[in-house]
Amino acid sequence: MMRDFGSRDPRFIALTGRVRERLLSLCMGSESHVAVPIQGSGTYAVEAALGTFCHHTRPTLVLINGAYGRRIASILERIGRRVRRYETPEHVPPAPSAIARMLKEDPEIADAVLVHCETTSGILNPLDEIATVVRDAGRGLIVDAMSSFGAIPIDLRRTPIDVLIASSNKGLEGVPGVGFVIARRERLAASAGQCHSVSLDLHDQWRGLEANGQWRFTPPTHVVAALAAALEALEAEGGIAGRFARYHENCRVLIDGLGALGAVPLLPAQLQAPIIVTFHMPADPAFAFQRFYGALADRGFLIYPGKLTGVESFRVGCIGQVRATDMVRFVAAARAALESMGVASLAPSLA
Ligand SMILES: *Cc1c(COP(=O)(O)O)cnc(C)c1O
Repeated sequence: MMRDFGSRDPRFIALTGRVRERLLSLCMGSESHVAVPIQGSGTYAVEAALGTFCHHTRPTLVLINGAYGRRIASILERIGRRVRRYETPEHVPPAPSAIARMLKEDPEIADAVLVHCETTSGILNPLDEIATVVRDAGRGLIVDAMSSFGAIPIDLRRTPIDVLIASSNKGLEGVPGVGFVIARRERLAASAGQCHSVSLDLHDQWRGLEANGQWRFTPPTHVVAALAAALEALEAEGGIAGRFARYHENCRVLIDGLGALGAVPLLPAQLQAPIIVTFHMPADPAFAFQRFYGALADRGFLIYPGKLTGVESFRVGCIGQVRATDMVRFVAAARAALESMGVASLAPSLA
């Protein structure tokens, strides 16, 4: 990032090409899919994918169990596409059998959209089972894999996914500013003129890249260079398997450590992705999230407020350049922060 690239210079063109290839090979999509980067945060990539691929007259089935699923439905509505919702509570994954039934009962539905890891709660939705059901019903599947890509294996040779969406700054550990969409080649080729937006049109973005290797509009050159470096670091860590192992260990140390202080996670272990953990709000009247946040920040740790509807909670991330030793330090910092607040335990009232 300390170097300025010319956005139309051959070195930057080559860099973009390497990043696109590496992204595809991470999900085994080199034979079948194409990676198209798009400027902006993850939501820009989601909106680009929905606008480029969702049908104009047939409805899209949106599987919702958190804020990111709800955002997908509201984007589709905003751009005038028809939406069918299948909503489950935030701690409950969508049932593949129910999806199969909805697709059977409504032959108009063209595609389904799934959030792989719903970062609202940290729940891991059953991607493989849902992809199989959607494929068997002859429909397409669009997956928001924003927080799971690079951290949890996805194999496009085994799992039928038409469109996969992610960004630079979560499991890939790059800096924020670029998203990307990995789309089945035929589907991308068939999407000309479909997007409601010029700047978010992935078909045109792809055609531009194929024509001369250049981005249509000014690319975030420093961010793309950082993503190239982040992809090298991922490889050096042993690829997605190595990264998954580190995040999994982070998650275990976190849940065990805060658990010893009384904290109770929202999700059972089999639904918990090693990405972000939601804990129930502690019952101790001396506990206040903002004070806890501040006391942890003073000790060098930033956590997240809860994002659930209805249930009070707070969240702690497991991803990024952190390892188990950092999680041990975090648990010690949490213990000290609670002591400073006069909080005896993180136990929620329901436990
Ligand atoms: C982070 C995230 C997004 C995109 O968020 P941005 O703030 O726009 O980068 C979308 N979906 C999921 C599941 C996410 O975790």
